[in-house]
Amino acid sequence: MLTFTHRTLGQRVLFGEGMAAEHLLAEVNRLGARSVMLIADLPQQQRARGLADRVPRAVVYDRVRPHVPTETADDARTTARAHEIDLLVSVGGGSATGLAKAVALTQGIPIVAIPTTYAGSEATDVWGITQSSRKTTGVDERVLPVSVIYDVELTYTLPVDLSVASGLNALAHCIDSMWAPRTDPINQAIATEGIRALTAGLPAVKEDPHHQGGREQTLYGAYLSAVAFASAGSGMHHKICHVLGGAYDLPHAQTHAVVLPYVLAYLAPAAPAALDRIASALGSQDAVSGLTALRDRLDAPRALKNHGFEESAIEEAAQLILPVIPESTPRPVTVDDLTQLLRDAWAGSTPTIGVNTP
Ligand code: NAD
Repeated sequence: MLTFTHRTLGQRVLFGEGMAAEHLLAEVNRLGARSVMLIADLPQQQRARGLADRVPRAVVYDRVRPHVPTETADDARTTARAHEIDLLVSVGGGSATGLAKAVALTQGIPIVAIPTTYAGSEATDVWGITQSSRKTTGVDERVLPVSVIYDVELTYTLPVDLSVASGLNALAHCIDSMWAPRTDPINQAIATEGIRALTAGLPAVKEDPHHQGGREQTLYGAYLSAVAFASAGSGMHHKICHVLGGAYDLPHAQTHAVVLPYVLAYLAPAAPAALDRIASALGSQDAVSGLTALRDRLDAPRALKNHGFEESAIEEAAQLILPVIPESTPRPVTVDDLTQLLRDAWAGSTPTIGVNTP
């Protein structure tokens, strides 16, 4: 019997290489915006100024910081008020989108997002703000961008290692959607197509960062991954990475890229249907070896010890993670399991748990 409740978030998606300016102007006109603030991170500032030149009454806000510190959010809000902004345009990765969301949260201004990484924040109604090293997140419909403009031209400059880490962050959205609290057949179908697109796109980007088809498939897959994630919610993988990122200030995309195979291996014995689906989207006989093969091809980030996580923090981290593991997780999780998983992820060793023992 098929019984479920699915929620779809509404937004326009405009996709096309070299069309960012044209699409932005169309959206500015459609929304009747009279005063626009472009929020752009460092590598995108020149492009943002170019876009701003074509939009009437536009200002560029360029003080984007990772993880949206409160001071940055307050400063951007003040600037938006001073210019009587009625449309926010983010140009950049998850940090630029996140700052636009922080302004939208308190001022109710619509956002048009122009993403330049594969983080996927543009397709979710989740916001995050960091105060004194503690990140608070929440869900609010005001922060969901009304439109998303994808233009692969803006992604050619994303360095290969960051493209790989960010793309694996997107892959993690897809895989975790299979057992997240609100998983359902619709977001699983979207996630499956996301895995297929990312599996096709990322190796091409790794080989040639200017590969148009590779960049397109990766960007398309990243959008699907975020739609699936927004609908299904955070599963075990995202809960682990959220704690690691927040408590130990680890880099977002790289943390996701390292942790994913360990969570997949741990849950593999308890989620055969999801694993079959993931395997077929990866084009492999089984999901765990398919992911390993993809990661090998991409020379993916391997060990948390290379990204600022101290071995001495493993036991504390396991204790912090246990209470936030969702009930929907298909296999029971203990603090010992998490300790072992983190130990493996810290060292970058082959996953030692779960593959054969449910
Ligand atoms: P980021 O936005 O911090 O970007 C990483 C780095 O890449 C930065 O130095 C940036 O300047 C650079 N960069 C971005 N695009 C580039 C390009 N095209 N060329 C060259 N350099 C480029 O990191 P991210 O991984 O995109 O986003 C991570 C943040 O997004 C985290 O704070 C995370 O919590 C948040 N996030 C939120 C959601 C959500 O739903 N709210 C979802 C995913 C991620």
